[in-house]
Amino acid sequence: MSDTNIQTSPNFIRAMIAVDLENNKNDGRIHTRFPPEPNGYLHIGHAKSICLNFGIAAENEGGLCNLRFDDTNPDKENIEYVESIKNDVRWLGFDWQDRLFYASDYFAQLYEYAVLLIRDGKAYVDNLSADEIRLHRGTLTEPGKNSRSRERSPTENLDLFQRMRAGEFREGEYVLRARIDMASPNMNMRDPTLYRIRRAHHHRTGDQWCIYPMYDYTHCLSDALEGITHSICTLEFEDHRPLYDWFLDQLPVPCHPRQIEFARLNLNYTVTSKRKLNELVTKGHVSGWDDPRLPTLIGMRRRGYTPEAIRDFCERIRVTKNDTIIDMSVLENCVREDLDRRTRRVMGVLRPLRIVIENYPEGVTEDLDAPFHPGNPEMGSRKVPFARVIYIEQEDFMELPPKKFYRLAPGREVRLRYAYFIRCERVIRNETTGEITELRCTYDPATRGGNAPDGRKVKGTLHWVSAAHALEAEVRLYDRLFTEAEPDSSQHDRDWISFLNPDSVEIIRQAFVEPGLSRATVESRFQFERLGYFCVDNRDSTDGAPVFNRTVTLRDSWARLNEDKRD
Ligand code: ATP
Ligand code: MG
Repeated sequence: MSDTNIQTSPNFIRAMIAVDLENNKNDGRIHTRFPPEPNGYLHIGHAKSICLNFGIAAENEGGLCNLRFDDTNPDKENIEYVESIKNDVRWLGFDWQDRLFYASDYFAQLYEYAVLLIRDGKAYVDNLSADEIRLHRGTLTEPGKNSRSRERSPTENLDLFQRMRAGEFREGEYVLRARIDMASPNMNMRDPTLYRIRRAHHHRTGDQWCIYPMYDYTHCLSDALEGITHSICTLEFEDHRPLYDWFLDQLPVPCHPRQIEFARLNLNYTVTSKRKLNELVTKGHVSGWDDPRLPTLIGMRRRGYTPEAIRDFCERIRVTKNDTIIDMSVLENCVREDLDRRTRRVMGVLRPLRIVIENYPEGVTEDLDAPFHPGNPEMGSRKVPFARVIYIEQEDFMELPPKKFYRLAPGREVRLRYAYFIRCERVIRNETTGEITELRCTYDPATRGGNAPDGRKVKGTLHWVSAAHALEAEVRLYDRLFTEAEPDSSQHDRDWISFLNPDSVEIIRQAFVEPGLSRATVESRFQFERLGYFCVDNRDSTDGAPVFNRTVTLRDSWARLNEDKRD
């Protein structure tokens, strides 16, 4: 775990574990796991689960947490996902040490367990098709119907199962099912499928198997084989818990982990389902899994979010049993707080307005001293070049300023941060279009550093860069990915793609930043004064030519929009 101290918050899972410890359950062992399916990149929801599982292990003496790939579906899984998940867990600040496991490593053992179930008359080979099995399952109000295969003898089942494995049958011709209760009020207990025939190449076991175990069967047994004590999962598995326990009760497993469910993290204005994220990526709605607009860990990293901020967020939102939707601004506030502490302040101008300071000598450059963090002198300072021609932000000037506009206007004086007071003398326009092309200003040499010796005040302080010295850079500004707070709520789930925000990214190709930033390394983060926090893009930046992603604005502009409406 890395440096900062993130407060852990009490929750019902930590309380349950405390009771188990008090009762010396599992001889006082605490052993959790994070069990991703390698069928996509990790997202913010997974971060919640990672923080919880690795966090609980870390805060209990001798506690362990495994990283286990639940790789039972070769059709959707691959090595790229495995590697990305390992990278993301590490980046988030967690270490599985030598505790890296794959469910596929247990395929032989799982097969042996299935043989035991068959011998005991607790599993049978069925020749019903997938559709027929569905029809036989019944509904929530009607019991299911027994398949005729249910009465097949163990010897015959064993023979068929061995032949399934030997590759004698076509896909879908047979499945192995648990023999539980077709009338159970819990649909998951109505003879669920344990194995299916699938002639697919697996990223770890290759072509060794043509039958693959189902998730429910695999998951509980993998937990037990690894000695897991607390198997923490999301609420949709609550109805699967009786099945989880059933398998463990029937088989001679080394231990019986306790399944505990908690509510998934949902964030508004985005989607946190791997299937949907995959669709956004493969259909080209975003530039890749690492698109800075996505809630994937790799996307948030590229955008400039820190692991510390994400971990802090995962603690603050609490772990509960109630499904809620967390406001994106909660996450953004965690990011702001963390970046406020750690980033250097620099200046950049996104939409330049040229200013000529008429009484400043031509050909002179001054190097002005500017601290990196006004609240933290330990972060030091740098020199910023000042000269006769500078850029300020277009929106920092108004020819006819309304009330409460304290920035530059004709005849008005403002402060240039760390530099001088300047006064706007004249507005220069393009003769044909009438557009403002430049401002003519004067400066007061006595205000060097930004204060007037005569004590006169100005209301506005602007950021700026020297036109001759500034580095031209590409800057990308991001907004919400969706226009709808709940794009995939059940009420309009089919149309979720139609709620993509067409303005979720704005690319500014010719922004100007202070020259020292030509040396900024990828993934370094800054506060551009008055504009927000920015991070050097880790994909498109080249040597000496950084591309900046705006991580987050300085204030919650969404909250401010609402305030404006109220005014
Ligand atoms: P998705 O719906 O995105 O495909 P998943 O549950 O299928 O997610 P897994 O790879 O199986 O993805 O997830 C690994 C672990 O992360 C599981 O224990 C799962 O419960 C947990 N997890 C997944 N999504 C969330 C979420 N939104 N909030 C909290 N935990 C989550
Ligand atoms: Mg899952």
